[in-house]
Amino acid sequence: MTRPENESAQQTDIVVVGAGPVGLFAVFEAGMLRMRCHVVDTLDEIGGQCTALYPEKPIFDIPGYPRIEAGALIDHLAEQAAPFEPVYHLGQQVTALRPREGGGFLVETSKGAAIACRAVIVAAGCGAFGPHRPPLPGIEDYEGKSVFYMVRRREDFRDRRVVIAGGGDTAVDWALSLSEVAARVAVIHRRPKFRGAPESVARLRALAYAGRIELIIPYQLAGLEGGDGRIETVVARTLAGEERRIEADVLLPFFGLAMELGPIADWGVDLEHKHVVVDPATGATSVPGVFAIGDIVTYPGKLKLILTGFAEAAMAAHAIHPLVHPDQELHFEYSTTQGVPGR
Ligand code: FAD
Repeated sequence: MTRPENESAQQTDIVVVGAGPVGLFAVFEAGMLRMRCHVVDTLDEIGGQCTALYPEKPIFDIPGYPRIEAGALIDHLAEQAAPFEPVYHLGQQVTALRPREGGGFLVETSKGAAIACRAVIVAAGCGAFGPHRPPLPGIEDYEGKSVFYMVRRREDFRDRRVVIAGGGDTAVDWALSLSEVAARVAVIHRRPKFRGAPESVARLRALAYAGRIELIIPYQLAGLEGGDGRIETVVARTLAGEERRIEADVLLPFFGLAMELGPIADWGVDLEHKHVVVDPATGATSVPGVFAIGDIVTYPGKLKLILTGFAEAAMAAHAIHPLVHPDQELHFEYSTTQGVPGR
């Protein structure tokens, strides 16, 4: 459905939906082809999963960096994109994508921004993501004060009594890491077996054996006690009703992410198992002018890796060039030949 042009709409060449690593690199690739970008993200900070879920974890498979912390990678990507002056709209979701009269789209956000563009790159990862909350009465009173669904800075937990709930990679990895700084770490898991990487699970069990981590298994979270947003006791129970009460300052429930495609599901692009179907050579979706890259896409052989998303960003930018600059022939150039403004 087209609708009259919104006169207050901001103008750009491309709107990138999602400021994760792949969306940020798309800004660079678009910039190298003289295309300007606005970037919208639901989160208050750029960096997608890298910032929100594992900023202090090292990544080992970014080409050229034998080891780089996820947060540092995002800093570098933002610096790499900066010469092309992207406009960030953070803390707001892209809610609507409307075809414009005369071509292109009007992108609308939950904070009322309207951005007119020639093309859209959906780099929305797993969609607007949020944590699976444990169903504990009153938990919202503690959230952000003593219940956290992600660890931004390990130092925030120095000398605290930490209870981690969950049995997957995130729970295991943070138990290992926080055991180095916290006053005490207890892990509540409903099964005796953990699903983390075998080497990490072995280290967890070794630290439990040495008394540095307490494993409370097979128990489930049953309640929180405290006041003014501060937890004092975490209650855990077995299926048979046996109860454990753990004195704690902090609860970290790691039950995975709720991945919600959200409004993207209504944009008319073909989907398969909650992923956007694309042509892997271009990132083109079934809607002309809408491209998708990164974790959100599916095609035969797709790998959900940052490095794959980077390559997809380059291919999408080249495919979009004729839409933004229909009168200019695209001459493929290396960055070494072309250079980057101000660098
Ligand atoms: P994301 O990073 O998910 O970013 C998408 C962004 O889009 C989010 O910020 C989201 O808020 C935003 N968004 C979604 N919908 C909307 C909307 N409607 N409006 C506005 N914004 C929206 N990969 C590797 O290559 N190597 C590793 O070692 C590695 N380790 C990992 C460790 C952990 C613990 C985790 C969780 C992941 C790891 N990954 C790793 C995976 C990697 O983080 C992802 O492949 C990568 O983040 C995907 O980038 P992206 O930009 O496609 O999406």
